[in-house]
Amino acid sequence: NFELKNAQKIRSQNKSTIFDKILVKQAPADIIYEDELCMAFNDIHPQAPVHFLVIPKTKIPMLEKVSKSDGQILGKLLMVAKELGRSRAPDGFRLVINNGRHGCQSVYYLHIHVIGGRQLKWPPT
Ligand code: ADP
Repeated sequence: NFELKNAQKIRSQNKSTIFDKILVKQAPADIIYEDELCMAFNDIHPQAPVHFLVIPKTKIPMLEKVSKSDGQILGKLLMVAKELGRSRAPDGFRLVINNGRHGCQSVYYLHIHVIGGRQLKWPPT
């Protein structure tokens, strides 16, 4: 029923994720950038020669959970994604945020995928 499904959904979104552990260096990651607000590390299953993730240091489980007060950090994540993308994939790159089940989100810790280093196709099926 709806109540149960909703409770399970909320629980899964509040659980500690692998990215929580990477952030506090309790899980290994190939960290390529870090500052006081965010971190970027290479994706463990890269979909292209360049594939890294940018995450905020304050946890947001998914894009649909951002609030008005998260505007600055969202801007910051885009700026960092842009800077790293430009230097690592100078011929172009793509940003992706998967949100929820239909969006194929599997880690419930907000992250921006930055993908490049080869010709990408559109649409992304
Ligand atoms: P999807 O798995 O469908 O891409 P997400 O948007 O939630 O869904 O992306 C999670 C990403 O995190 C995946 O690209 C996955 O390869 C990556 N990932 C999972 N575990 C790790 C890890 N320990 N280190 C780096 N990347 C990871």
